[in-house]
Amino acid sequence: MPAPHDGNSEGAPARGNDGRKRRDKRERATPSYEVPHFFPHLEPLRERYVKIPWSDSVGRSTTTRIRAQTCPCTKTTFELCAVGGLLHIRRIVTTPNGDLVSESPWLRWPNGKALWRDLLGGRAY
Ligand SMILES: [Zn+2]
Repeated sequence: MPAPHDGNSEGAPARGNDGRKRRDKRERATPSYEVPHFFPHLEPLRERYVKIPWSDSVGRSTTTRIRAQTCPCTKTTFELCAVGGLLHIRRIVTTPNGDLVSESPWLRWPNGKALWRDLLGGRAY
């Protein structure tokens, strides 16, 4: 005999109009590589923005973790990289002769994340 639905039991399947309202959007998780433009694009650059002092990349170390990236559909893409407790942004410009990689200063996490947000929001470049 079915248990009475008291609304407190965790894990009880949602029924009727309870939840699952946006089923149409993401019926199941789709791998990101199958979704075009899954990663964010940069917003248009604001009139006033912070110039990021890009410098030549010293190369990605084996301990580099990519925390976020921009959409690969553009010629210039960016990666937010974490190494040893610091964050930096890598800028990758695709050219016929190969990728040109430069990187932002290495920053503490709050500053690195703020810089990433500013980059995405058109407030830094
Ligand atoms: Zn895109």
